[in-house]
Amino acid sequence: MEPPLDRSTTWPYVDGEPGPFHYARNAHPVGVEAERALGGLEGGTALLFPSGMGASTALVLALLEPGRTVALAQDAYYGTGVLLGELERWGLRHVLFDQTGPPPAGADLVWIEAPSNPLLTMPDFEAAAAHTGLVVCDATAATPVHLRALERGCDLVLHSATKYLAGHHDVLLGAVVARDPDHAARLLELRTRTGIVAAPDAAWLLLRGLKTLEVRVERQSATAAALVERLREHPAVEHVRYPGFGALLSFDVADARAVETATTLIANATSLGGVTSTMESRRRWEGERVPEGLLRLAVGLEPVDALWGDLEQALGRA
Ligand code: PLP
Repeated sequence: MEPPLDRSTTWPYVDGEPGPFHYARNAHPVGVEAERALGGLEGGTALLFPSGMGASTALVLALLEPGRTVALAQDAYYGTGVLLGELERWGLRHVLFDQTGPPPAGADLVWIEAPSNPLLTMPDFEAAAAHTGLVVCDATAATPVHLRALERGCDLVLHSATKYLAGHHDVLLGAVVARDPDHAARLLELRTRTGIVAAPDAAWLLLRGLKTLEVRVERQSATAAALVERLREHPAVEHVRYPGFGALLSFDVADARAVETATTLIANATSLGGVTSTMESRRRWEGERVPEGLLRLAVGLEPVDALWGDLEQALGRA
């Protein structure tokens, strides 16, 4: 059973001394419970943040300082690069690299993404682990069902828990999972001081989502694999990207706008990882970083034939 949803921000001292919970900015019971559950899945110490971007911001502020350099996978989630660009004003540097090969020497932190959104490349984990810097893997699209990045030599795992972990398009949440307890302690200190704290309601929804994570992701992945085969055969589809696992894929068509606006079952919406399928042209957000005809499809729990029927009629407009 999920724990009761305790929304308290303060708890009475015990004999005049603070107990395990005293003020919600430090910790709250549902948050701690959700962190235990996620930490168990990834094999490390998890900390929640109010969004994936909040988690990324906290990670950088906690573990780096002005003058340090981040080597960022060039096709990592576009918002990560935008964030690191923002932090240039605070003295943080970043360089881009191709994550299918070794990261540039000398970087203080290597940021990889498995698989990358929306180009679906996989990082070279061995090359990243051999690097002298800290390694963080954004495993939002893989989830711990398909990947335990700490076991592949990464120091930290990052999630937009908004996506598969919570899974229902109804909560914004992020997480960092650390292998080294000192990194977790530093992140906790930074979180408490900055107040980048996830609310109990969001943590409760994560706990509920984690109960079905494996069945959701396995079913969504099987459906995605079946759709990939059919897309590869379709004459209107120029190129399909799929890493061979997971529920996220992308493909290119001549007229992305015509196809994305023609689906009826698949929502023409952003985000990914929910039980309902979403598809969109990423050009509107990412500009020339992605091919003009690229459509990103996040496969939900709808029956595979219903999804294919929707895609097929929409591809007729391409
Ligand atoms: N990382 C990846 C791979 C993402 O896809 C996203 C959001 O789309 C984020 C991080 C940012 O997460 P959030 O939207 O929860 O802030």
